[in-house]
Amino acid sequence: MSAITMRELTKVYPGGVRALDALDLEIADGEFFALLGPSGCGKTTLLRTIAGLEVASAGSVRIGGRDVTNLPPGKRDVAMVFQDYALFPHMTVRDNIAYPLRIKKVDRRSRGSKAADTADELGLSGLLERRPGQLSGGQQQRVALARAMACHPQVFLLDEPLSNLDARLRLEARTFLKRLQRELGVTTVFVTHDQAEALALADRIAVMEGGRIRQVGTPTEVFRRPANTFVAGFIGSTPMNLIDARVHGDELAVAGARLPLPDGAPGQVSDGERLVYGIRPEYLDYSPTAVPGALTGEVVVVENLGSVSLVSLDVPGDHAGASDEAGAGDDSGAGRTSVQVVVPEGGEPEPGDTGWAVPRPGRSLLYRDGNLVTAAAGVPAPRADATVRS
Ligand code: ATP
Repeated sequence: MSAITMRELTKVYPGGVRALDALDLEIADGEFFALLGPSGCGKTTLLRTIAGLEVASAGSVRIGGRDVTNLPPGKRDVAMVFQDYALFPHMTVRDNIAYPLRIKKVDRRSRGSKAADTADELGLSGLLERRPGQLSGGQQQRVALARAMACHPQVFLLDEPLSNLDARLRLEARTFLKRLQRELGVTTVFVTHDQAEALALADRIAVMEGGRIRQVGTPTEVFRRPANTFVAGFIGSTPMNLIDARVHGDELAVAGARLPLPDGAPGQVSDGERLVYGIRPEYLDYSPTAVPGALTGEVVVVENLGSVSLVSLDVPGDHAGASDEAGAGDDSGAGRTSVQVVVPEGGEPEPGDTGWAVPRPGRSLLYRDGNLVTAAAGVPAPRADATVRS
């Protein structure tokens, strides 16, 4: 068992930066877990604190039920793969892979054969006598992974494992890494600032901001039901549409339209209340003709994304967070905002057209003070079982 449990974990750097702020997190045995967030949110600090490369200022870290908070890195039974791979340039691939075994005083013959076996598993057999400078970026990454694997650690810690690879190689390496983790079944924590990478690879994701965790969930959960507007804006290749709205009886006035209240909202909101309406561009269907219960406006931009286009409609209303001077939250239509819709190929409109954006049932959300309005206990949440697009 190699679950990782963090309780009230805090890291304050000299100078007073609170990089981790009383953070609680549980990572299950065998899980492929992503730490995701913008630059400076504390994800590398969290990974390094699990590794023992940073000393926690307060709180605890347990690995496999053992309190490792005050143990040095070598005693934690973890292996870390660094962003730049940190291979020794003067050593061969074989010696690089065998290096941690040498530190552990494994005899020369066993080291050689274990290094060769691990290299074989990662498709590096033909490269054992080369030095890192004679390898491609993807091969160097595999050597770094092989070096981490050779010791059979309880936990792998990967710091931005794909960021040094070019776009095409990144996709290949992503698939390779996911398959490898599945086969090995070793608890793996990886840091990334790339939401698409986290969605594609992870069993679960912790989205971080300012040393705290804003949401933990499966890729489908964080994509479908972001717990707050920070996560809603961070996850997804296009951010969620977030528009000021007002409750009118059992309807919602938003962007000049009247829409049914989203699932879970009836009984949780009051008449006249101002809230934020959220819907992903992927969950709006474009119509060139009038449809009841749709947001409507002029097409201002059409961006070709390959098999789909991103269409921006100029609608009455205000983007959530717009200044009150511009009439924020007023459903009178005083302000203007942009609603983005993903349109499949063949159905793209032209700029200047009038279009309708129809919300898919069960896919719109409401936020109060930045937090998701959820159904009362006992009311089932919308299904979250379909494939996520990243
Ligand atoms: P990035 O994606 O840019 O690597 P991150 O989310 O990994 O960012 P961290 O590197 O963990 O963030 O940094 C978290 C905060 O701690 C930042 O404000 C950073 O400036 C600060 N910090 C990191 N290392 C140190 C250090 N050695 N001394 C002081 N402050 C530090």
